[in-house]
Amino acid sequence: MSREVSVLGRVGPEGPGVFVLYTGGTIGMVVGPQGGLVPLDLRELAAHVPVVYELPVGLTVATVAEPVDSATMGAGDWLRIADAIVEHAPGHLGVVVLHGTDTMAYTASALSFLLEGIDLPVVLTGSQRPITALRSDGRENLVTSLELASARMNGGPVVPEVTVFFDHLLLRGNRTVKVSADSYQGFASPNLPPLVTAGVTFSPSLGLARPAQVGPVRRASGLCSDVAAIHLYPGLDRYVLDAVIARPGLRGLVLQAYGAGNGPSDPWFAEAIARAVESEVTVVVTTQCRAGWVRGGLYAAGAAMFDAGAVPAGDMTFEAALTKLMVALDRHDHPDEVRRFMLSDLAGELTV
Ligand code: ASP
Repeated sequence: MSREVSVLGRVGPEGPGVFVLYTGGTIGMVVGPQGGLVPLDLRELAAHVPVVYELPVGLTVATVAEPVDSATMGAGDWLRIADAIVEHAPGHLGVVVLHGTDTMAYTASALSFLLEGIDLPVVLTGSQRPITALRSDGRENLVTSLELASARMNGGPVVPEVTVFFDHLLLRGNRTVKVSADSYQGFASPNLPPLVTAGVTFSPSLGLARPAQVGPVRRASGLCSDVAAIHLYPGLDRYVLDAVIARPGLRGLVLQAYGAGNGPSDPWFAEAIARAVESEVTVVVTTQCRAGWVRGGLYAAGAAMFDAGAVPAGDMTFEAALTKLMVALDRHDHPDEVRRFMLSDLAGELTV
């Protein structure tokens, strides 16, 4: 399956415009000749969404060769999207990435850590129904994303960072989680207010957006895929945990723990974490709760994880913690450096 990116052409007026990259997902699906949903040929985008002709800016439209359901995406796709942005974004006002909703929060998180020197908006969006469907949320999401990516305020871009736009909210990408498989309000950022609320006008949350960095945008590192994750549940036993930790070459493990970073008090649990840490696996503890913080050692039952050397994820989402760990392990060899990296705020993903 080819996921190489090719530029299809230009729509609308000349001059600095928006770079639009279609990667797949429901937003760009149409009913194919055999009945099922197949990716739309984006050259026909303007035919389905004629309002894009009315935008005051032009669009450079690109697509991956074979658009995919985002459930099949992984580190290789995130790197390709990052590289396409690095190659094509300069000279544009902003970037819009059309993406499946299922793993959009992971891609947004990964891009926020991979890309440095972001001096323009990178907005990811998608939809719950295809853009060609009569009652689609895709048109609204696309058009508002294009406006947000190209809008200027005081001479500069409104939100020059990696974001997710969905329904009426522009959210920081690495704070975003998918919260509904049905509702048009599919995403939220429970630990951070929306960066912009799009009503009749755009209402930015003042002082929240990150300032533009010194461009041009570049890719700062790769991603290490030697990571695993475990969602804690009552009844988790040592066999499951040991099997994951025994994964050959494992360098990072994200635990989705309870509440403020709590887990079982059984000695086998703490021993397994200690063994992982001793063998230089970085263990990061996130929470299963939608909102709030992991504070190492608030409860005695969970304290053993942190005594054994696990790293509390603070208020990072699971998606942010996992992708940040992949970046950390690519950039650093020593677990102390990986730990320091995880505890620092890189792209607004963590309140320190
Ligand atoms: N399965 C789709 C995807 O993530 C769902 C969507 O786009 O809404 O690619």
